[in-house]
Amino acid sequence: MWEELNSMLDQSFDEMVEIRRYLHQHPELSFQEKNTAHYITNTYKKLDIPYQQNVGGNGVIATLKGNKPGKTIALRADFDALPIQDEKDVPYKSKVDGVMHACGHDGHTATLLTTAKVLKQVQSELAGTVVFIHQHAEELTPGGAKPIISSGVLKDVDFVFGAHLWTNTPYGEIETAEKEFMAGADKFSITIQGKGGHGAIPHQTKDAVVIGSQVVSNLQQIISRRINPLSTAVLSIGTFHAGTTFNIIADTATITGTVRTFDTAVQTQIMHEMEDIISGTCVGYDASYTLDYEKGYPPVINHPKEAKLVIEAANKVDGVKKATFVEPSMTGEDFSYYLLEKPGAFFFVGAQQEGNFQPHHHPAFDIDERAMLLTAKTFVQIIKSYQ
Ligand code: MN
Repeated sequence: MWEELNSMLDQSFDEMVEIRRYLHQHPELSFQEKNTAHYITNTYKKLDIPYQQNVGGNGVIATLKGNKPGKTIALRADFDALPIQDEKDVPYKSKVDGVMHACGHDGHTATLLTTAKVLKQVQSELAGTVVFIHQHAEELTPGGAKPIISSGVLKDVDFVFGAHLWTNTPYGEIETAEKEFMAGADKFSITIQGKGGHGAIPHQTKDAVVIGSQVVSNLQQIISRRINPLSTAVLSIGTFHAGTTFNIIADTATITGTVRTFDTAVQTQIMHEMEDIISGTCVGYDASYTLDYEKGYPPVINHPKEAKLVIEAANKVDGVKKATFVEPSMTGEDFSYYLLEKPGAFFFVGAQQEGNFQPHHHPAFDIDERAMLLTAKTFVQIIKSYQ
C-alpha cells in the first residue's frame, strides 16, 4: 500500500493546486484566519480524520491514529497571509485588497491537507500516529506556534517536521541544515533624549543628532570587537529619525534596527552590550535614552539525526535532484519553538519558477506548484521511515 502513495499523490496534484489557488485567492492576515481555519476543518471532516479547532487561537490539529503501535510524528504547515497588494497577473490572484499569500503558506496548507488525505489510505497498516499541525499567525510576533504548543499538542509527539516552499532555491532541490538553519530575529528601538535649541547657540543644547550618530557608530563595535569572531550575529540599524529643520538642534532622535543571532548566549550578550554602549555614550553627553528591545522568534536549530533523516527521505523522492545541507539563512521562523520542545527538523523545498524569480514577501511572489508535490512526497517518506 505504501508504494501506491506516490502515485496517489501524483493523481492528487490537480486537487492540491486547486486548494492552493483557492486559498491564494482568499488570503487572511495573521490572527484573523477564521475562514482558512474553517476551510481546513471542513477538509478533515470530509476526510473523516478527527481534529481540534481553535487551538491556541485559529490553529487546527488533526490526528491520524494508525492501527499499529509506533511513534507519533507531527507535521506542521502555517496558513496566514501578509499585508501586501497582489500584483500578479494570474487568474488565481488575491481577491482581497491589500492582503496576499506572499510567502507560500497557502501552498503549505494544500500540501499538508493532501498528505493527510493519502496517509488516511494507509491508516489500517500505519504504525504510530501522525499529527497534522495547521498553524495560524507565523508572520506576526508573538506568532501562533507558542500558543499552539502551550495548549499541549506536543505532549505525546516524538518528532516534529516542517517544510517551507522556498523561491530562493530552484525547483527540484531540498535544503536543510544539521543544526543552525534560520536565525533568531529581534528588533529594537532607541530614543535619545537631548535638549533642542537654536542652531547658532549649540552650547545651550544637547544635540540628539550628534549623540545619536555616536550611538550608531559605537554600536558597530559590538559585532566587530565584542562578539567572539567564531560566533555569528548581525546588528543593523534600519532607521534614524531626528530634527525638524536646518537651523534647529534636534531635541530627540529615534533609531531602530534588528539583531539576528543563532545562539541565545550571543543574543543575551548583544542585549547587554547595547545597553552599556548606549548608556555610556549618553552619559558622556549628558543625555538620556530608552532602549526598547523586542525579542522575536528564537533561531531554528535542527536536530542532527532528524535533519539527516530529512535528507535521506528527500533523496528517495522522484523529482528531487538534490537534497543537501546548506548554510543557514538569516531569515526567521516560529517553527523554532517546536524544535525547542521536541527533536525534529525544518527544511526548504525549492519552489522557484523557471525564469521568474520572485523573492518571498514580494508583491509578485509566486511558486512553482510542483514543489508542493515534492514536499508531500518527502513528508510521506519521513513517516515511512518511522514504520
Ligand atoms: Mn513563511
